[in-house]
Amino acid sequence: MTTTSLVDSLSPAEVDRLRLDFPVLGERVNGHPLVYLDSGATSQKPLSVLDAEREYYLHENAAVHRGAHTLAALATERFEDARTTVARFVGARDDEIVWTSNATEGINLVAYAMGNASLGRGGAAAARFALGEGDEIVVTEMEHHANLLPWQELAARTGATLRYIPLADDGTLRLDEAAAIIGSRTKVLAFTHVSNVLGTINPVAELVGLAHAVGALVLLDACQSAPHLSLDVVSLGVDFAVFSGHKMLAPTGIGVLYGRRELLNALPPFLTGGSMITTVTMQGAEYLPAPQRFEAGTQKVSQSIALGAAVDYLTAVGLGRIAAHEAELGRRLVEGLAAIDGVRVLGPGVGHERVGLASFDVAGIHSHDVGQFLDDRGIAVRVGHHCAQPLHRRFGVVSTTRASTYLYTTTDEVDEFLAGVAETVTFFGAHA
Ligand code: PLP
Repeated sequence: MTTTSLVDSLSPAEVDRLRLDFPVLGERVNGHPLVYLDSGATSQKPLSVLDAEREYYLHENAAVHRGAHTLAALATERFEDARTTVARFVGARDDEIVWTSNATEGINLVAYAMGNASLGRGGAAAARFALGEGDEIVVTEMEHHANLLPWQELAARTGATLRYIPLADDGTLRLDEAAAIIGSRTKVLAFTHVSNVLGTINPVAELVGLAHAVGALVLLDACQSAPHLSLDVVSLGVDFAVFSGHKMLAPTGIGVLYGRRELLNALPPFLTGGSMITTVTMQGAEYLPAPQRFEAGTQKVSQSIALGAAVDYLTAVGLGRIAAHEAELGRRLVEGLAAIDGVRVLGPGVGHERVGLASFDVAGIHSHDVGQFLDDRGIAVRVGHHCAQPLHRRFGVVSTTRASTYLYTTTDEVDEFLAGVAETVTFFGAHA
């Protein structure tokens, strides 16, 4: 379920108050107050998250699921409590949440495990994950490379064919084409919930319906949705979902793979090693059930605990209200950019459901120049292809400038950014 209701947003006073929790937002850059519009790349972290990680190292640090001592038991409890917090956040069971380093690792885990199943690993239980010649993997033309390259590799290793759902001129998915592409050969459909370039929200229910009607598995890249929208993996009906902690107020180095329990327990492991087995002989091993089956080696304990604290923070503010706040900022961004001469916003215009993110091209000005000009004024944006080269190629551009907001972004900051873009156009127009 996604919520972008306009009814209950964050008030300007609330945003001002919660900004105090993010000390970095008080920095000055190039003589100006920082305007951080790069949360789509990585979010800033509140004090409660930094404190959670620090407290863990000050008082509880130990390896989890191994030691017989009190500190190890305490660390294990904190680690598993964080898993419960994240599971509740997305409507899953605890044993359906696997810790990964980031979303990229989560997608690679599923793709490589399917590759292992294709080699016969995992026995009869894993047969439903096996691919070979004649089978198809379906993605979309708007994927981040993290949700494209692992599937290209899987196709290359198994002989399966990779197909994609193309984009309409307005940046929405061609659902008519999707219905023709997803068929009896489709084994897996992997797509992004929210585009990291367009900010648009894809119709998950329709796509899941098409995939499940032909018995295909669905992996949802929730990297740009989990931080910004209420996410319930069960009501969305997806089989797997991934997201990254660092985009949702947590530190780098921690991500999440959600998988339906019966699927995770049938999927052969990806990484193998310590802490994921029941028995090992010199000839082979028996693996633990999920999630431990996919958590080989020493775990990311402080990062998991900090992600739990980040989820607590987001939940206290309210995901529905964050989504409403960002939808307003997104509208302001798109309307404001569209009104500037020479600026083309990629994707659908105002009126399409979106998060607070917009990417744009400025005629005759390279995105790196736009980014540099804005940085001189303390405004941080992302420039380049945003790890989505095929999408940029589809729109006939090599790179764009992206502004992305979060719960701590103010309307004044968006207005300052818009004024900065208008100034950029005037400046480069005068110096062309
Ligand atoms: N998918 C989407 C839509 C993203 O925006 C990103 C990061 O920008 C990723 C996947 C990869 O995330 P990470 O680099 O944290 O693994």
